Amino acid sequence: MFREVNDPVLYLKKKRNEYYSIFKKYCDGATSAAIFGEIICQKLKRPIEQSLYKQTARDLADEIRSNCPSLNGNRSNLEKHILKSLAEEGKFYAFNDYIQYPKDHFKSFITDEVNQYIRDQFIISVQPKMNKNIEDLQKKILTAAHESTEDVEVKSGDVDLWLKFFTQMLSDVLIFSVKDLSGVKHDNVFFKLLEDVIITELPFIMSDISREFSTDTFNVKLDANNRPDEILIGHLCQCCWVQCPFCRAICTNTIEDHDEDYSVPFHRVNGINGIKYKGTTNLSVEICKTQVSSNMTYFYPDSTDRRVFWRVYRSAGERFEKWSITPDLAELPYWKWFVCRFQKDLEKHYKKTFQNRGKIPDEWRQITRQEAVESLDKYI
Ligand SMILES: [Zn+2]
Ligand SMILES: [Zn+2]
Repeated sequence: MFREVNDPVLYLKKKRNEYYSIFKKYCDGATSAAIFGEIICQKLKRPIEQSLYKQTARDLADEIRSNCPSLNGNRSNLEKHILKSLAEEGKFYAFNDYIQYPKDHFKSFITDEVNQYIRDQFIISVQPKMNKNIEDLQKKILTAAHESTEDVEVKSGDVDLWLKFFTQMLSDVLIFSVKDLSGVKHDNVFFKLLEDVIITELPFIMSDISREFSTDTFNVKLDANNRPDEILIGHLCQCCWVQCPFCRAICTNTIEDHDEDYSVPFHRVNGINGIKYKGTTNLSVEICKTQVSSNMTYFYPDSTDRRVFWRVYRSAGERFEKWSITPDLAELPYWKWFVCRFQKDLEKHYKKTFQNRGKIPDEWRQITRQEAVESLDKYI
């Protein structure tokens, strides 16, 4: 009896089965934790990547919005930059695109500016942002894993509870839910080990993501809605795009579908929009604001013979009634310069000429490109 109680060999033999079962359970638990941790990290890769690209795109959009002169103001400022760059390029088809499809033209200008910025600043600015976001996110995930483990241990919860805590803590940064792990078998997971596995595995996932990060893939990997150019287009292009029925100048109201009248500080030479003098093939050199001040002149709002006096232009129909065009509006030498510079192109485009009544005044021809561009600074 004494031996049975006090002989360590005998004692251990007796405990053998009990210890074996604990050891076995530990091994299983460790394996489960390792496998489970690995699965979690793998399943997190895609949501992590999405979150990182989204955050980096947002940070970048903010930075571009404050650093890029064409994009750091309102739409009028942007329009000024567009007109300057059109004048510098000197391509008629680009002007025509801007005149006919302003919204699309603005959008592609923004996209070009943003792409240029990304190309120029990739190493200086984009890459560091991505690295910082990777670091932040990794910290958040590790904290979530740690706190979930503590919570579950306090509450003696199971792995489902652990996952619930974990996904809830990350819900504002990752699109990832318990459902993403449904079907994965996870009995007897040792939480402390699970946390260790995540601590070890996560940096590999992060470095995979950062290795794939480059100038070429950045745009490809971004979701359509989270591209920095789309974010900026959202900021700058959600406004009124109604164009003057005479000269196609764009209403400058910053609200889409506004109640007030449409208005724009500068109207353009009407011939730019292909408007001609009735019964001739001569393009018009009139500017809306001078026309509305005249008592005698009239226009033909449609293809019929119906004529309307300019001073009561609003009565011409739906397209005209909401426009506020007043004689006190300023004039922009830019459009006079444009008509002179692209006279041939406009004539060819509309198959009409600037002749007779539509003769371009001589003083317009004195305006230099530089003066035209400088006049745009009146814009804001
Ligand atoms: Zn106009
Ligand atoms: Zn408007």
